[in-house]
Amino acid sequence: MCALVRSKVPFEYCSKDDFPAMLAHWIGHVFYDILPGEGYEIREDQIFTAFQIANAVCKGKVHFAEAGLGTGKTFAYLLSAIPYARFSGKPVIIACASTALQEQLTGPKGDINTLARLLDLDLDVRMAKDPRQFICDLKANRVNNPFTGESSRLLDEVVHWADETDRGERSEVPHIPDRVWSQVAWDETMPCTICSSRGFCKLVRARNYYRSARDLIVCDHGLFFNDLWEREERIADGKLTLLPDYAAVIIDEGHKIILPAAMRAGRQIAEDDLNSMLSLLERLQGARISLLAAAISLRTATSGFFKTLYNSVLEDERTERLAVRVSNDLLRAADTLLRTLSGLHHELQNEQELYTGSLSTTRLQSFEAKIERATAVLDRFCRDGDRDAIVWVDRKEKSLWVVPRNISDLLGKFLFTKKLPVVFSSATLSIGGDFSYFTRTLGLQKPSSSSVDSSFDFAKQVFIYLPRHFSASVREDWFDPALERLVALLRLANGRGLVLVNSPSDVRRIRRGLKNCRFPFEILWEDRAERGYLVERFREEVSSVLVGAGFWEGIDVPGFALSLLVIWRLPFPAQDPLIEARRREVKKQGLNPLTEVDYPEMGLKLKQGCGRLIRKRDDRGVIAILEPVLGTPWEHIVMDAIPAGAEVTETFDTLSLILKN
Ligand code: SF4
Repeated sequence: MCALVRSKVPFEYCSKDDFPAMLAHWIGHVFYDILPGEGYEIREDQIFTAFQIANAVCKGKVHFAEAGLGTGKTFAYLLSAIPYARFSGKPVIIACASTALQEQLTGPKGDINTLARLLDLDLDVRMAKDPRQFICDLKANRVNNPFTGESSRLLDEVVHWADETDRGERSEVPHIPDRVWSQVAWDETMPCTICSSRGFCKLVRARNYYRSARDLIVCDHGLFFNDLWEREERIADGKLTLLPDYAAVIIDEGHKIILPAAMRAGRQIAEDDLNSMLSLLERLQGARISLLAAAISLRTATSGFFKTLYNSVLEDERTERLAVRVSNDLLRAADTLLRTLSGLHHELQNEQELYTGSLSTTRLQSFEAKIERATAVLDRFCRDGDRDAIVWVDRKEKSLWVVPRNISDLLGKFLFTKKLPVVFSSATLSIGGDFSYFTRTLGLQKPSSSSVDSSFDFAKQVFIYLPRHFSASVREDWFDPALERLVALLRLANGRGLVLVNSPSDVRRIRRGLKNCRFPFEILWEDRAERGYLVERFREEVSSVLVGAGFWEGIDVPGFALSLLVIWRLPFPAQDPLIEARRREVKKQGLNPLTEVDYPEMGLKLKQGCGRLIRKRDDRGVIAILEPVLGTPWEHIVMDAIPAGAEVTETFDTLSLILKN
């Protein structure tokens, strides 16, 4: 036996140089010997992906691992992540796209526990949740205070729970709505550095717990980027970083990172947030007149600014992020708000110096932090407008976001230049195996990449219907013939269809068009009920039909209930400010934004949408694209995005064979 055996790693190796070869050998042993012995089939595409990831991890490279549905990409990356964490003595980060996916991955039946059981590994895996998912004891105590507390049944319930809970996680009270949760949850303005509970409150305990994971830390994209952008500053300030030092990062659903990366690098100012602070100040007993006057001025300026802001948005119902037309009026309103924020800040500092006792030190600190954050947003907005920053209004939150335009530069500076293995894993990173759009979006030069198709047999499982007479020339008056086709398809399939559209107005228009159709099945409309409920009903009511713009990703309906996938319109991107920033960037480089941004964006989303149809080996179905494709300049993008090997038909008759079975 070798003298330098590292017992913690699940295989023997002699030296650092020996590790990559032994890792590859072990991965082969797991896939060819151990897993088949446990009833798993040998999938060459999965094994190829695992070897590619192992190679990139050992060489400290950035790697794009594209693997179609059913390939088993999670096992493929875990088999490198676990030994590499033990080899380097630091955990590997796995960043998921959502809390639900974190929970799924780490759950009792999730891939991590399954692999640990199959390989008899004793793994130390900990979940790092976004701090907003935790209660802040200080905030919860304030709500409890009869002087400042808000009364509501749900708030009372959550405050009572806060007294009892050990973990203080939102998942323990899933029925509490955002509006109430925000009254007790941690937020960036909480004065943790001077808090007397620092060191033992629930949030800090949870952070300390996951920080000491030995093998894997499973977080979401938001927390990963929060840590990445703040890391150097926190170290310089002598604060603990959000994540500990890590050996590598696997970014699952890697195609989704741009939005969380941008949001965590940017700042937000919300009207409700400022107003709730002002309401508390205005109700203060014995407050000084000048403090009250500053609060009243700020309320007027806040209302004026947000009114002008809402009048300046460019409405596009296909996105929650509305672009802003930056005018002199808006800049003037921002400047007034800035001055009044500074006035209130000054008054709060006086309050502290005068020891009036009307506000506790922690409350003062959190108000000051709120004002400083709002000031930073407005400063940047007034300075950069929409030139060097990306600016948008969040429709739901009623807030202004200002984020740096150069996310790819930040990624380069803080992530890609660190010689750290970074693996992006997803089913949709390329168009037909070409990764150039995603590579350019991240500002990379030449990452290593691997792409394998889904392990499903699309030639046998899928038919694609592209109506011939829907050519580019009839695009303008396409609605009526498309609706006719939709009705015929739904009748042929006896429901069992998911209709993907691009906007709420598409949903309304189709509903009006189908008003007089008497279908023997139910149609579930996206705007008529909560998303989770609709998906559940669609799954259970086998013949039902689901129509919406928000189901292109993240819904999993295997079996008969989804046999017909209708792409009502091709998902060309909206006037989203993040996309617009990319359009401007490629234009600056002398390229065509339409072919370099809009087409690939559409192709990637279409690929995601098509992925909804076949979820299991025995699923079969039809994908019907009702917007004209044949003869259009984007025909090749569509052809690259639809399931490879699926038979394309232009006539309706062929479909009955598959839909009637
Ligand atoms: S340390 Fe921070 S999170 Fe913990 S109770 Fe204090 S303010 Fe809240």
